[in-house]
Amino acid sequence: MIDAPRYAELAPPDRILMGPGPSDVHPRVLRAMSTPLIGHLDPAFLEIMDQVQALLRYTFRTGNQWTIPVSGTGSAAMEAAFTNLVEPGDTVLVPSNGYFGLRMAEMVRRAGGDPVPVAAPWGRPLDLEDVRAALAEHGPDVVAFVHAETSTGVLQPRVPELVAMAHDAGALVVADTVTSLGGVELEVDGWGLDVAYSGGQKCLSCPPGASPLTLGDAAMARIRERAEPMRSWYLDLSLLEHYWGDERSYHHTAPITNVYALREALRLVAEEGIEARWARHLRVAGALRAGLETMGLSPHADMAFWLPSLTTVRIPEGIDGKRVARRLLVEHGIEIAGGLGDLAGVVWRIGCMGHSARPANVMALLAALGGVIASEGGTVDQPAGLAAAAERLTPHWSGRVR
Ligand SMILES: *Cc1c(COP(=O)(O)O)cnc(C)c1O
Repeated sequence: MIDAPRYAELAPPDRILMGPGPSDVHPRVLRAMSTPLIGHLDPAFLEIMDQVQALLRYTFRTGNQWTIPVSGTGSAAMEAAFTNLVEPGDTVLVPSNGYFGLRMAEMVRRAGGDPVPVAAPWGRPLDLEDVRAALAEHGPDVVAFVHAETSTGVLQPRVPELVAMAHDAGALVVADTVTSLGGVELEVDGWGLDVAYSGGQKCLSCPPGASPLTLGDAAMARIRERAEPMRSWYLDLSLLEHYWGDERSYHHTAPITNVYALREALRLVAEEGIEARWARHLRVAGALRAGLETMGLSPHADMAFWLPSLTTVRIPEGIDGKRVARRLLVEHGIEIAGGLGDLAGVVWRIGCMGHSARPANVMALLAALGGVIASEGGTVDQPAGLAAAAERLTPHWSGRVR
């Protein structure tokens, strides 16, 4: 017997999501998700698929025919990229400076490839001279890197140079754009990226479940020329081609509601304008960073390669970082996160993504964080931090954010 009355109707607590994802979902996206299901082969749904693809191309800044949402979270799009592109015995250069670079290497290994790491410190960008040397030494088939490292708050600069270097060495380039798509400047075609994948719940502010992936002609050609079929049936793009391509034949049932959600989230991107959206992230997150710094906290990533959608800030000496994050959640309804891997216990990770990247959220977070740190015995100047942030959020403030 089950005690049914114990399981009341779902009523999640009110939260402001300022962690590394998920971010707050726009009410219009939630509304789209409550519209009726139709069949995934219904002509009306096929039209929705076309629209999602067009909106994704706009957001990725690409003309790639092969631009689709992969069923699953960001890691599914990531795995689709690696399992399709990498053949057993392929060498894949994986320069990495954080947790998600390590995940890439693991996926390459599982796809039968030979990942060659090029390590950079967690909190610094990749060193392009190290990458150049590794390209010459290993002659890889693929180079994979994380554009926006959510574990460290580092935005990789000089991407066009990195891509040109890899192309000159005959390698295709895969970029993890999970925390950059829809939040910070990203130019798939302009930068020459061969493959880019992302997720819904970061800067697109969509629930996780349908994850953007785009591939250029060179990458698709390589996939079509594979000597042996890839090991995953579910993520095999040569099979998915029959559903997302002209044939529209059944492969697996699309996560219809997630596709609705993504469509609405991308419509919001298009209405705002992609460049205006990048500018908003820069402005709102710039206020957050300024507020934290003025309050007396130290950002972990240098301004020169700071990632607006995710700011890492060092936990002050003598403060229990986990306890502070917990109190923020319980007492203020605000979610932030601690560090991963090398940065566990060292930093807090504060997201400023999509619909969460709003002035009121930044002010609420600074007020709450400053208050909680002070009540834990830390020294912060919360009012000064709030003033610094407010100044930058004033519409006609003309100073520099970065
Ligand atoms: C969140 C994230 C992922 C994984 O996405 P999931 O949706 O959690 O599967 C991959 N790469 C980066 C950089 C991320 O931030």
